[in-house]
Amino acid sequence: MRKQLIAGNWKMNTTIPESLELIHQLKERVSSSCPAEVALIPPFTSLSVAAAALRGTGIQLGAQNLSHLAGGAVTGEISGAMLVSVGCRYVLIGHSERRKLFQENDALIHLKLKMALSEGLWPILCVGESWEEREAGQARDVIKNQLEKSWNHFTPMEMRKTTIAYEPVWAIGTGKNAQPEQAQDIHEHIRALVDSQFGAELAQEVRIIYGGSVTPENSSSLLIQPDIDGALVGGASLEANSFYAIIEAVH
Ligand code: PEP
Repeated sequence: MRKQLIAGNWKMNTTIPESLELIHQLKERVSSSCPAEVALIPPFTSLSVAAAALRGTGIQLGAQNLSHLAGGAVTGEISGAMLVSVGCRYVLIGHSERRKLFQENDALIHLKLKMALSEGLWPILCVGESWEEREAGQARDVIKNQLEKSWNHFTPMEMRKTTIAYEPVWAIGTGKNAQPEQAQDIHEHIRALVDSQFGAELAQEVRIIYGGSVTPENSSSLLIQPDIDGALVGGASLEANSFYAIIEAVH
């Protein structure tokens, strides 16, 4: 039985005091009996204080990126070991904003995944098609290609620790979410791809979460789909009430 994951990606928002305020508001609401696993993914600068503030709450911490290199003369980068030492469990890899704004390709994403896993982090691998690709009927092939290049040479254990986030690029930050049936269709496709590569048992274990304009209003209809195992939430995670309403949509 897969436990749903609701992860809030704060992107390049929140100073340290703002992060602490948001955590304070969330901590009051998220109880230990919450049926979902909750993860917060603040900017690097807030990780340390967030780890301290979240201690004992059961809320997990994640980072938005990591270097594919282990360390050394790599100015401006953050290593997997640093993320582990600050208290991160999760790390986002392959977010469409990194693919688009920082030219991250599938080969680099593969290296980042391997680095994250070798350091003991649990990656959240983001994949998704553009609007043009969807319109051209290529969504399934685009996602298959992204996944196969990403999990190249993965062991079953590495796959088990990886969460896949289906994030159609046209739905991120646009207010235009995928319809629940559209999302379910792609999630089913992704699970079938995991099945063909790693077997049926592992395919049933792997979490596949949806991201792209998830709000309190649309979260129930998305999260009720059989192959949607949670949500990666951007904009709506920056406000405690709306993020908590999405967490509450998990049953
Ligand atoms: C995201 O950044 O991963 C995301 C899904 O953003 P939003 O919820 O704002 O569309």
